[in-house]
Amino acid sequence: MKERKVKIPISEIYPTIQGEGFLIGTPVVLIRLQGCNLSCEWCDTKYAIPLKKESGKYLEEILREVKKYNRKRALITGGEPLYHREVFFLIDSLIQMDFYVQIETNGTLWIEELEKFSKESLYISLSPKYLVNYSFHPAFYYWADEVKLVVDNHLSSEVIFSKPFVYFLERKKLILQPEGNKPHFVKKALKLLEEILEKGYEAFLIPQMHKLIGIE
Ligand code: SF4
Repeated sequence: MKERKVKIPISEIYPTIQGEGFLIGTPVVLIRLQGCNLSCEWCDTKYAIPLKKESGKYLEEILREVKKYNRKRALITGGEPLYHREVFFLIDSLIQMDFYVQIETNGTLWIEELEKFSKESLYISLSPKYLVNYSFHPAFYYWADEVKLVVDNHLSSEVIFSKPFVYFLERKKLILQPEGNKPHFVKKALKLLEEILEKGYEAFLIPQMHKLIGIE
């Protein structure tokens, strides 16, 4: 496929601050892709799930819009960004333009072409979902820079202490994110954190900062 002919379904593009995970507070241009292969009950970007014909934008148009903002970091999110193989061309172009690219993914899909990038220019935030029993593509063992587990009614200590997540606990990459910053999920997250610490691991409790300070 010729790069200039690439069309990607875009929900919205705007400058903001990363509100989740280890890179909280980072100024970014947020590029939200339309479409997702899952349908989580508490999804806070449900408007970005249905694929709409009219949301397809040419790569050139997207890059032109991204360049308007005074940022050197791009956050590609969704929906599920890896649902579209064409996202590779977007990432490639952004990296060539010296952007530090962050991707937020549910981890169920992988695009092999991403393996041509170095970890220095690509930050991957993996957030496995209860709908698929917290399973994720094995490529993320290497590629995930952080693993966000949403603390909701589904998350349990059994999940956290299962083999895949112990792998990330051992590497201090696990983040507990209380769903919607709700007080009862904050309480549950604190309890889970204590269990993690008791077992000799370290994890991090990080709320959704953008919701606390009232920005998108
Ligand atoms: S994976 Fe993410 S975008 Fe997709 S439905 Fe779940 S929360 Fe929403």
